[in-house]
Amino acid sequence: MSKTFDVVVIGGGPGGYIAAIRCAQLGFNTACIDEWKNEKGGPAPGGTCTNVGCIPSKALLQSSEHFEHAGKHFAEHGIGVKELSLDLAKMLGRKDAVVKQNNDGILYLFKKNKVSFFHGRGSFVKAVDANQGGKGGWEIAVAGATAETLVGKQVIIATGSNARALPGAPFDEENILSNDGALRIGGVPRKLGLIGSGVIGLEMGSVWRRLGAEVTVLEALPTFLGAVDEQIAKEAQKAFVKQGLKIELGVQVGDVKSGKKGQPSQVSIAYTDAKGAAQSLVVDKLIVSIGRVPNITGLEAAAVGLKLDERGAIVVDGECRTNLPGVWAVGDVVRGPMLAHRAEEEGVAVAERIAGQHGHVNFNTIPWVIYTSPEIAWVGETEQQLKARGAAYKAGTFPFMANGRARALGDTTGMVKFLADAKTDEILGVHIVGPMASELISEAVVAMEFKASSEDIARICHAHPSLSEATKEAALAVDKRTLNF
Ligand SMILES: Cc1cc2nc3c(=O)[nH]c(=O)nc-3n(C[C@H](O)[C@H](O)[C@H](O)COP(=O)(O)OP(=O)(O)OC[C@H]3O[C@@H](n4cnc5c(N)ncnc54)[C@H](O)[C@@H]3O)c2cc1C
Repeated sequence: MSKTFDVVVIGGGPGGYIAAIRCAQLGFNTACIDEWKNEKGGPAPGGTCTNVGCIPSKALLQSSEHFEHAGKHFAEHGIGVKELSLDLAKMLGRKDAVVKQNNDGILYLFKKNKVSFFHGRGSFVKAVDANQGGKGGWEIAVAGATAETLVGKQVIIATGSNARALPGAPFDEENILSNDGALRIGGVPRKLGLIGSGVIGLEMGSVWRRLGAEVTVLEALPTFLGAVDEQIAKEAQKAFVKQGLKIELGVQVGDVKSGKKGQPSQVSIAYTDAKGAAQSLVVDKLIVSIGRVPNITGLEAAAVGLKLDERGAIVVDGECRTNLPGVWAVGDVVRGPMLAHRAEEEGVAVAERIAGQHGHVNFNTIPWVIYTSPEIAWVGETEQQLKARGAAYKAGTFPFMANGRARALGDTTGMVKFLADAKTDEILGVHIVGPMASELISEAVVAMEFKASSEDIARICHAHPSLSEATKEAALAVDKRTLNF
């Protein structure tokens, strides 16, 4: 006997679980299917984000930052630490405990909101009524500890993404690591290689460098952090190099060789450097972080004619509708930036559209954050994008060096940068490199969502002493009237 639901969500990551909760809030009888297993084989909803992404990476970034501070910066505050030691197993255990808190939190939220949770793999079987081509709903099989068949009048696909492997060098998660293996290396590697200097690579590289690894980053692109505002990216690169990160740009990676699985071995990487010279790098572990691919494994998308693009992403319209009636898709499995908060916003918007409301996601005000030290965060257009489209703009910057709170923190790297329309003064982009950029960016997101001008921010009272005063000063700088610089 199949169980019928108003909405069946396939995937319990940030896109899926948030969509399911919003559907339930709107009065729909909702099911969410997720196949992620914890080490005991039990359910672990939350997807990549909770299990091997946002949450565990931030837990390790925090722990490794404490370690680095204790070893290198406490002395500046007059605090001596004798025999600083690292209990890596405990640090990794703490990270696992943080992940579990989040898994359990989602299961609790499902109960609280009366979302029916199914642990297993969800696959399309067929349209309920073939004559209606899916208008009557879809039959979804769940393969888990027990087999079930569900009927969803509406279906939301949120099956996420997987790490992209280097051709010819598959992940073994022992020597050649994806984000998954990179989050559970059992001992600090002496030498760590990183292919790809994107968000995930830089965050993972930071963790292991702080814990003592010598980290070399090989990046194919000729510029560092090409998507980031150039001035901000240069400032960040300077800081990372000063910390000891070796960054080689414009390289072409060739053969990657590693020992057999189960054998401790080194990884050798042959590559051509930016000048075209043949080079090689030998490391104890290699993290490959060259992007992610949409995941439709086991969904049986072809069986029902679900349309995919050339990247394997599910094709959706501006409102996340697929080519199949009553079937929606959100998050990493569709076009757009692979960010947890984008997936969540789409999940909420789809639930509201199913309810006949006007769900809305503003792609122009999605914030980006890289949780390195210094942190990098931005919203809106970069200066190079404004130049490319011939926009008339004004820029204002303010360095953390001139901010009292940053001096008190002992962290004065970086700046806040405002870009505003030359005529109307509307904020077009805000870019931050420096302490707590991840938190500071929210003010800019709110401002841009409300179409504020830089003058608006400049006239708002900001607490003293706070890092947010650098935001106000950068807004003042647009009109060349900073007060503290
Ligand atoms: C190391 C790392 C750090 C990151 N840090 C950040 C960050 O700081 N901020 C940020 O915004 N983003 C970050 N991301 C990206 C973020 O994790 C993703 O954008 C986000 O998880 C996408 O959410 P999603 O719901 O689309 O998919 P996912 O989180 O991938 O969830 C998909 C879920 O669907 C399940 N599933 C798949 N197929 C089926 C099926 N057929 N049946 C049942 N279940 C299925 C999967 O098991 C999984 O649980 C990070 C990613 C990584 C790898």
